[in-house]
Order: sequence, then C-alpha cells, then structure tokens
Amino acid sequence: MEKININELTFEELEKFIEELGEKKFHAKQIFKWLHRVAVTSFDEMTDISKALREKLEEKAYIIELKVIECQTSKKDGTMKFLIELPDHNAIESVLMKYHHGNTICVSSQVGCKMGCKFCASTKEGWVRSLYASEIEGQLHTVEKYSGEKISNIVYMGIGEPLDNYDNVVKSIRLINYPLGLNIGARHISLSTCGLVPNIYKLAQENIQCTLSISLHAVTDEKRRQTMPIANKYTIKEILDACKEYIRLTGRRISFEYALIYGQNDSKEDALALGKLLRGMIAHVNLIPVNEIKNGIYKKAPEDHIQAFMDTLNSCGVVTTVRRELGSDIDAACGQLRKKYIDKTDEFEDKKYTESSND
Ligand code: SF4
Repeated sequence: MEKININELTFEELEKFIEELGEKKFHAKQIFKWLHRVAVTSFDEMTDISKALREKLEEKAYIIELKVIECQTSKKDGTMKFLIELPDHNAIESVLMKYHHGNTICVSSQVGCKMGCKFCASTKEGWVRSLYASEIEGQLHTVEKYSGEKISNIVYMGIGEPLDNYDNVVKSIRLINYPLGLNIGARHISLSTCGLVPNIYKLAQENIQCTLSISLHAVTDEKRRQTMPIANKYTIKEILDACKEYIRLTGRRISFEYALIYGQNDSKEDALALGKLLRGMIAHVNLIPVNEIKNGIYKKAPEDHIQAFMDTLNSCGVVTTVRRELGSDIDAACGQLRKKYIDKTDEFEDKKYTESSND
C-alpha cells in the first residue's frame, strides 16, 4: 500500500488515521502539533510519541519537506524572496515581507498559472499543476525555519490563481488556521483572485473570515480584456455582484488590486470610472506600481500619475492606498525568480543535450 502524506490530513482525518492504526485517537493532538506547529521533518523528532507508534507511522505515512533552492534578500528593506523546491522537483516562489504590523508571507498556490495575465511573469511558462494544501502550508514552515522570523500574515498572491485550486487552498487555510497548528487567524489571511466568479460565491459560503482581494486592473471589460484573458469569461459587473454577496455573507471589506500601467489604465478618466464602480461598496483600493518584467511590454506609471490617481479615488470616497514597493533591488515580482531558474535549467539541459549528441 502506498504511504500517505500525513501533512495533508485535517485534525479529524488524523484522528481517524490514528484509530485505524489501532491506537488511541488522543495521539492525534500530539502528532498534529508536531506536524503543523513544530514542523518536524521526521517521525523520530516526535519525542512524546512511543517508538512503536512512530514505527507504525513511518510504515504507513511520510512527512513532506520543501527545500530552499535560492534566497535573495533586499538590501533596501530586508524582503526575502525564496525559490523553493517541491517534493516532485518543481519550483515555486514565496516572499517574506517585513511590515510594521508583522511579517507577511506571499505564497504560491500553483506551479505556473493558466490565467495568462499579460503583465505577469508567473504565467509565461504555462501551468504545470496545482499545489497540495500541505505544500502551501509548507512554504510557511520552510520560510520561518530558513529566516528565523515568525510569520503573522499570509497573502495568497504568489504564483497561480488560488481560486483555480479551490479545494486545496481552502484546506490550507483551515490547516494554517487550526488552533493546534500555526493558529493564524483567518483575518490575517488574504486571498487574491483575478475574478473566478463561481468560486467567489462558493468561498462566501465557507464561513472563513479571510480577506478577499480582486485583481481588477481595468475599469471597463474592453480594457480588462487587453491584459487579462479571464475578462473574456466574466464581466466586471459579474465580479462586483459576487463581491457584494461575499461582503453580505462575511461582513468583510473587499480589497481591489489595481496595477497602474503607464498609458494603459492610469488616466484621470480611469480613476473617476473606478470611483463610480466602487461607490457605496465596503471596499478598499490598493494601487500597485506595476512591476516591469524582463521582456515585458508594460511600463510602470510615473509617481505623479500614481498620486493623482489616488487623490481622484479618495475624492470619490473610495479608500485608496499605494502598495509600498518592497524588494525593488531583487527579483521580487511574482514569477521572475522561477522563470530565471527555468531558463537556466533549460540552458543547462540544452547544453547537456548538445554535448551528448556531439559525443
Ligand atoms: S496575475 Fe495572478 S492570475 Fe494573473 S497570470 Fe499572474 S499569477 Fe496568474
């Protein structure tokens, strides 16, 4: 029988698993803590568990471990960008950002992304697979251990579209949230989507109090379609209707992400139209000076455009902030480090192939 990934089990599933091993289910409490709070990488480290039970666990299950391939640290603000290897050798990225209110990790939810947003490096190499819940949670353990920093906030804003990996993402939130584990409150967890409408409605029903962020980036469907293929499927009106339902059921404010692209969506008319769209909604706009990616065609909007855009929105009564640019001296934009790694690996593979065919 194939061994199971024990980190994937919820507390209730772990209790059942322990009972199936012929042991008392109270051991699940100890084991859950070892796995999700201490983040051990072997059963031998579970010192309050009998040797006999550890051997049974070893026989039927395994603990997953993620490895840091590379870490870049910003000299400007201490932001740490990690290239992390999954057990199947795929690579993903996580970023540790240091704010006054605590350390925030930006996690990946997929290897690559299907969504094809034109300003994003994460989608350039296509989509490979979705992450398991334990691989999402594992990014926290890996980064905490490597950096020695405690993480208090999580944003699902790394590689991948979280709502395209719905079940695993929701499970990972529940694991991270669980009192015997990391015990990070859902209010400290923020999930960002490009607008998969049916799954916004589904998430609203989950009774999870996480913050929902919508990557909007344009004020008309026509403009949105120019940079975000998902706009061919769902209109802005459909997204806003789903957001209203999310607010109604959770009481949570929605955050709208708006990457300002020079000459594309940064005019005063765009700001006024955005103000009109969001008027009366419990919402917050987060303006993002767009990251210029290697070979990307989009340019960052200049400072004065950003300031004027924010002033216009604020005058429309929409609370607006500009996201602080962190890690500007490292490859901090989502997907850049992985893309570099893939390019390098491809070069290596090509070289290996050329050399062996020359043999
Ligand atoms: S911005 Fe998000 S949804 Fe769009 S391609 Fe990048 S990772 Fe995917």
